[in-house]
Amino acid sequence: MNVLRLGFENFRNLCPGEIFPGETINVIHGSNAQGKTNLLEAIWLFTGGHSFRGTKDSELPVLKDGKNAPAASLSMTLFTEGREQELRLELRDGRRSSVINGVEKKTGSALVGKFCAVIFSPEHLLLVKEGPSRRRAFLDGALCQSRPAFTRVLAHYNKALMQRNALLKDIPRHPELIDTLDVWDERLILFGTEVVQERAAFCKDLEPRAAEIYRGIAKNREEITLSYAPFGGAETKTEIAERFSEALKNARNADARAGFTSVGPHRDDLTLTIDGLSARTFGSQGQQRSIVLALKLAEADILYRKTGERPVILLDDVMSELDMSRRDYLLNHLDGRQVFITCCDPETVRLMETGRGFYVEKGTVR
Ligand code: ATP
Ligand code: MG
Repeated sequence: MNVLRLGFENFRNLCPGEIFPGETINVIHGSNAQGKTNLLEAIWLFTGGHSFRGTKDSELPVLKDGKNAPAASLSMTLFTEGREQELRLELRDGRRSSVINGVEKKTGSALVGKFCAVIFSPEHLLLVKEGPSRRRAFLDGALCQSRPAFTRVLAHYNKALMQRNALLKDIPRHPELIDTLDVWDERLILFGTEVVQERAAFCKDLEPRAAEIYRGIAKNREEITLSYAPFGGAETKTEIAERFSEALKNARNADARAGFTSVGPHRDDLTLTIDGLSARTFGSQGQQRSIVLALKLAEADILYRKTGERPVILLDDVMSELDMSRRDYLLNHLDGRQVFITCCDPETVRLMETGRGFYVEKGTVR
């Protein structure tokens, strides 16, 4: 898929306007704090995802006199499924609504699956640097885009988890409630098994692809591995369900004392290694950046295979900390895809043979 046009009004610091990106590499350049990442974020929001910088929807409209305006609106002409499609995203009073080819939708999530993108930003380095929740969010985010039905499975799991935790907190005052945990355990097992299976299948797909891309970035000097193997690496549905059920039973008394559920997919991790060592503990800045990049580009390949459409690639400030050979690999292995890449140094633009440049200054895009 290709973004043919992007329009923005009252969004962050961007002056109302529109851009017409090219089909290959689009470089968004300019000094710090001019609006480059804001432009990338405007594109990203069409995936239906949240701001990748953790900004609340109510804080996205332009600030006027220290207060956010009530609304911002974004529009996109997208070439996908063999034709042009018109998408619109409205952010009003912290709520989203959308218009897809002239049909109004009450939610922003109606856009999920319409527009697919993969984003890499400095925040995503936390995927290697921080604890497991970032890595789970990466897996779940990728799964939601490639199979929108997964969004519902995950929501059911999280709801059951919340309800079980609420009950656990009540148990010290009402010990007789402990038996009613069975209902929530059943639901956790039902949806949790599916979450684990989907994540495991995705990781199996992801590993060889990410490893190959990483070898390219690192000029075959380093090898990475990915491992997601909850419940002792149980593979079949029955096996996962049985082990999850057993783990919940074993942890039940401790959970009742602690007031939360200590086992299940909400505690899983994806282990990443570089040459056999933990990427989190031992990876250098450049290695950590490269492994996240490899994961993201591999995610894009999987999305392409599953949906038949190439996702748009958004790279925010990816070049810093990469040496020349790593930069070179990146710029020359993105062909055939539409890419938006932000940078401060226009020299980067000159490294490319083709592509379109956008200069951002004080919110104005030229
Ligand atoms: P850098 O090179 O440092 O990453 P950038 O060009 O990517 O810079 P952005 O993150 O896009 O910069 O932000 C540009 C400016 O937008 C910031 O100075 C910020 O204060 C401003 N900004 C963020 N949110 C809003 C908003 N809701 N209204 C107005 N301005 C905003
Ligand atoms: Mg930026």
